[in-house]
Amino acid sequence: MVTRCRECDKEFIPNTVRQEFCNDYCRGTYHRRRYRQQAVEEAEDRREARLNGDGRGTEEERQKANEVLARIVAQGRSGKPKFVRRI
Ligand SMILES: [Zn+2]
Repeated sequence: MVTRCRECDKEFIPNTVRQEFCNDYCRGTYHRRRYRQQAVEEAEDRREARLNGDGRGTEEERQKANEVLARIVAQGRSGKPKFVRRI
């Protein structure tokens, strides 16, 4: 029985039923990419959770962000520069 490699799409005859890659290199490449993709997806999930305000600690974070924003607005109204220019 011939199987197609999940990485390079080459047809090969597997030594075992579960073999999905033509060689170790393809298996390594595939899993590295999958791991990286998973890491990216998890990072995006965390980012989305932050944006949606879901998850733990976000209410506090939002409140803190509001305080910072209020301070910036107050500073802007007072007419004083937030940062001292160093040129
Ligand atoms: Zn392959």
